[in-house]
Amino acid sequence: MSLLEVSNLGKSFGGNRAVDGVSFSLAKGELLALIGPNGAGKSTTFNMVNGQLKADTGSILLEGQELIGRKPRDIWHRGVGRTFQIAETFGSLTVVENVQMALISADSKLFSMFRRAAAHKRDEAMALLQQVGMAAQADRPCSVLAYGDVKRVELAIAMANAPKLLLMDEPTAGMAPKERNELMALTKRLVIERGIAVLFTEHSMDVVFAYADRMIVLARGRLIAEGQPAEIRDHPKVQEVYFGT
Ligand code: ADP
Ligand code: MG
Repeated sequence: MSLLEVSNLGKSFGGNRAVDGVSFSLAKGELLALIGPNGAGKSTTFNMVNGQLKADTGSILLEGQELIGRKPRDIWHRGVGRTFQIAETFGSLTVVENVQMALISADSKLFSMFRRAAAHKRDEAMALLQQVGMAAQADRPCSVLAYGDVKRVELAIAMANAPKLLLMDEPTAGMAPKERNELMALTKRLVIERGIAVLFTEHSMDVVFAYADRMIVLARGRLIAEGQPAEIRDHPKVQEVYFGT
């Protein structure tokens, strides 16, 4: 059985069919890229999987259990993690405090007394930072970190809940090629070492072709191609819609 099985997923905003009957599956240990031009429906698809948006049609099964209709926090507890941007929420905390916060909020008893509890999660947080190569910078404020290092911390935060599936919407946006490659190599290592699955969107075809095990292509809300990067590269529909040739 697939880890994630998405069938006939659909979502409209007013008369705009943002996602239109999309189906795909994702196995454990797989890095699946979701690509497509702006407005194709990538973020909308992500937000239905993590429960921030409710699908109009279809089904999203995680290990056979329906996710549609569940609250984002419930879905997160069931093992669907996502990276989010530190700058928006935890920018005033130090690196290790960020990861400690994620560990605490994953634990409802501790969440209610999180200030006192933070110390209990220090070792666990340090272990997560070790995995992303950020242990040496644990006590620096996040605001002074290089952009690529912030992204590593975001990954450690996402790992705090031990997700089965990790969603990354444009993880390498705004990064230089070297930083992009480092982040994706780290992500790939986590996929292999922890046996998780990753669904990510990405604009750089170099990154997709280098790191994705498989890719799916959306255009105007529809899935137009699916396969290994080498197959997709030469797919005529993809050439037409995505590369504009
Ligand atoms: P992508 O992430 O592939 O760029 P999106 O999923 O963000 O695409 O958007 C798909 C379509 O849905 C676009 O036409 C966009 O304008 C529309 N859309 C996305 N979110 C909303 C929203 N919250 N309200 C109305 N329309 C939206
Ligand atoms: Mg998007």
